[in-house]
Amino acid sequence: MDPFGRKIDYLRISVTDRCNERCLYCMPEGYKGWESKPDHLTADEIVRVVRVTAGLGFRKFRLTGGEPLVRPDVPEIIRAMNRIPGVESVNLSTNGMKLSVLAQPLRDAGLRSVNVSLDALDPVIYHRITGGNVEKVLAGIRTAVAADFERVKLNCVLMRGVNEQELWPLVLFAAEHGLPLRLIELMPVTTTEVLTEKNFLPCGEAIQLLAQKDELIPQPDRKLGHGPARYYLLKQTGALIGFIGALTNEHFCEQCNKMRLTADGKVRPCLGNHVEVDLRAALRHGADDGALKKLLETALRLKPLEHQFRNQYQPCRPMTAIGG
Ligand code: SAM
Repeated sequence: MDPFGRKIDYLRISVTDRCNERCLYCMPEGYKGWESKPDHLTADEIVRVVRVTAGLGFRKFRLTGGEPLVRPDVPEIIRAMNRIPGVESVNLSTNGMKLSVLAQPLRDAGLRSVNVSLDALDPVIYHRITGGNVEKVLAGIRTAVAADFERVKLNCVLMRGVNEQELWPLVLFAAEHGLPLRLIELMPVTTTEVLTEKNFLPCGEAIQLLAQKDELIPQPDRKLGHGPARYYLLKQTGALIGFIGALTNEHFCEQCNKMRLTADGKVRPCLGNHVEVDLRAALRHGADDGALKKLLETALRLKPLEHQFRNQYQPCRPMTAIGG
């Protein structure tokens, strides 16, 4: 439990700050703030942290980044995590670029579900946002569906004037493939010109846009996975759409259940707050599990009530370094 009575049992682990895309809102072209590679936690260090957190009551884990699938040992890490008593689910977020090759090996390693970022279907718009090739991502999504994960979800970051015209095609795609689609408000977690009032498209407006096409039926009790999305069922299309209103939903942090582990081994109790506790130094200076546990408990005690995104938040470390 954190100081505000929230049960924190979900750890999001960034396994790398590297990425094979350059999303406008995350790690734009020219980003130079890489951690040098030896500073990334090793597979053994990550698995050790998972063992200690599982001992503290953490049950759900997500591998993220950067792009986790640029790291070759991810299936091995997943396999090792799944052997740890207390670990109930291991999931992964990806941009999907490598999924057509890796979906089956990941499933075989015991990965339960994947979230795939898909900000547009139009190849030109997709490329403008991410620098990547949407055909590769779509092939990856098809392979993931065939690999029989418990769940495949789609994530799209809302950006006015960039991808709002893609929302309805994305809804139709999600409905056609039976995949939940989550629409995420742009968060101030990177230093780029895209983070302006002008580009910010609130969930409320996205709801209004979709309501021009279909009836949205609220699903207040619907929980898919462990995140803060609020779901709606679209009556005609049958699409299930989740809204992640990190900025406009005043109650966003009330149900927070997570902490983050950065690729360079810092425990970060809140994405939108700079507080971090260094585990890597302890891991590399012979700390025993009891000492690691104490550091994790310190991080838990420091978890703030709310993120700072509405208070002129300055990101310092971009999303790619923290882990989305
Ligand atoms: N590369 C993987 C992916 O694409 O899912 C994992 C890391 S990525 C940082 C995780 C999620 O964070 C993605 O869904 C991405 O769209 C989202 N994200 C990144 N920057 C964001 C921002 N500024 N605001 C809102 N969501 C963001």
